[in-house]
Amino acid sequence: MPHSQLISQRAVSLQPSLTLAINARAKALKEEGKDICSLSAGEPNFDTPEFIVEASIKALRDGVTRYGPASGDPELREAIAAKLSKVNGIPTASENVLVTNGGKQAIYNLFQVILNAGDEVLIPSPYWLSYPEIAILAGAKPIKLPSSPLTGFALDLMALEASINKKTRLLILNSPANPTGRVMSLDEMKSIAEIIRRHPHVLVMSDEIYEFLLADGEAHLSFGAVAPDLIDRVFTVNGFAKGWAMTGWRIGYLSGNREVLRVASALQSQSTSNVCSFAQRGALAALEGSNDCVVAMAKRYNSRRNILINGLKAINGISLVPPKGAFYAFPQLPHHVPSSKQFCERILEEVGLALIPGVAFGDDRCVRLSCAASSKVIADGIGRFKSFIEQQ
Ligand code: PLP
Repeated sequence: MPHSQLISQRAVSLQPSLTLAINARAKALKEEGKDICSLSAGEPNFDTPEFIVEASIKALRDGVTRYGPASGDPELREAIAAKLSKVNGIPTASENVLVTNGGKQAIYNLFQVILNAGDEVLIPSPYWLSYPEIAILAGAKPIKLPSSPLTGFALDLMALEASINKKTRLLILNSPANPTGRVMSLDEMKSIAEIIRRHPHVLVMSDEIYEFLLADGEAHLSFGAVAPDLIDRVFTVNGFAKGWAMTGWRIGYLSGNREVLRVASALQSQSTSNVCSFAQRGALAALEGSNDCVVAMAKRYNSRRNILINGLKAINGISLVPPKGAFYAFPQLPHHVPSSKQFCERILEEVGLALIPGVAFGDDRCVRLSCAASSKVIADGIGRFKSFIEQQ
């Protein structure tokens, strides 16, 4: 049977992640005995804090091994609602919270229940590579809003408003951002809120998964707190993966309009059911325990981010909008480089450095480097990057 008949129309254009392809090639080269340095990671290189692990082990020993409510354990939903209310300034009740398998499933569930075929989703570019794919899976059309490094990758507010039409259903915001490390200011958020107010059919999803990873002097703002009058139209996505080094635990959450959350929970009950029961106990411990571990990890990323920024700035031909949060840098390649994918393939083969091509995030002029690695690995990676650029 031809491929086109085997695969649904919905799934046929689905793109496998370029990140995985690069990582697989880097692994294969390593196994061949090559000396590979990877700055491609999208996850913390710290272990999950001990008290969180212990809470989960205790839960297993206590027999917390059965089905639970599809929308999440009541205690965890309560704790997330309290965190959103106190830390993020978004008054939230537990009924407005759905515990999901990572931030990714929060986004997937939201898109499935709010988007109709042909709806348009506005995605500021560069963007996290899963947003367009998840929108397409929901039958919607991703509309990318390009930005320029010359303006620090700021969202072009005039272009934003001009791109809103009757089909527009959702605007995605992501601060701190993957891949640019950009952090949105209060004024920028207020201006976006003004635009959203003028278009009552448009919803907003604010992905705040990197909220705790901020350079010194930066503060995280939640869009839901900046525009409390839009509360019924703003959905917040977050999770435990990045702040608490819990990527493999698969715990995230979606919060917002209760009716939408009820339907998203019904979708979850008919697909994955509850998130792993004993993992939820670990997440509860994370919220109930001291935040010191998160602060300590964020501090380490800050010094590593500085090593990355200073190293990149010192390379001729590379320009960088210094990241203010998350754990990435997204420098522009020299003008003569024709393709970020080809560049990443060559730098991996020739000097053994694994990076992610910017084209995966919507900008072929750039590459993404991660500082979720030891200072030594970052310095080694910068050295290889510099020598490769200088050879060109
Ligand atoms: N949102 C952004 C911007 C991300 O970078 C990621 C993961 O890399 C996610 C969401 C999903 O995180 P999770 O591991 O919780 O599904």
